[in-house]
Amino acid sequence: MLPLFYLKLERRKIMKLISACLVGINCKYDGKNNLADLDSEILKEYKQGKLIPVCPEQLGGLSTPRILSQIQNASGEDVLDGKAKILTETGIDITEQFVKGAEEVLKIAKTLNVKEAIFKQRSPSCGYGQIYDGTFTKTVKEGDGITTALLKRNGINVITEED
Ligand code: SF4
Repeated sequence: MLPLFYLKLERRKIMKLISACLVGINCKYDGKNNLADLDSEILKEYKQGKLIPVCPEQLGGLSTPRILSQIQNASGEDVLDGKAKILTETGIDITEQFVKGAEEVLKIAKTLNVKEAIFKQRSPSCGYGQIYDGTFTKTVKEGDGITTALLKRNGINVITEED
């Protein structure tokens, strides 16, 4: 059963998900947000109630702030297939929480019949086409985040705030 907040949104025929940090919600690992990266037109859509904010990492049960984490030299697809892990900078395996968060976002998307998401580039959850490589050196590699990979597998189109 989805929280009342999401059920109210469903009645308003909202069609897209958006990374919650992009609309100013302080859900980033460092307790901040990415509002400065968002185009003003998209922000306007959010203020009109057309976008649903989700943070897969919080939905997976992780706290905010939390320790920086990255997929280890692999992609979100590999994590979903059980071939790779995501570790914190201190070496703790939090793969389970990231996969749970992705599944919760998919559940919201399916319940509300959402077909598109606007996600934060390079995040290990929300990244599309580019993610950090797991070395914590700000090195970028090709690949999708875990939530993006799961949404794409289920026919949901993902774009980024940079598109
Ligand atoms: Fe933003 Fe996604 Fe990271 Fe949450 S998981 S802070 S929504 S990029």
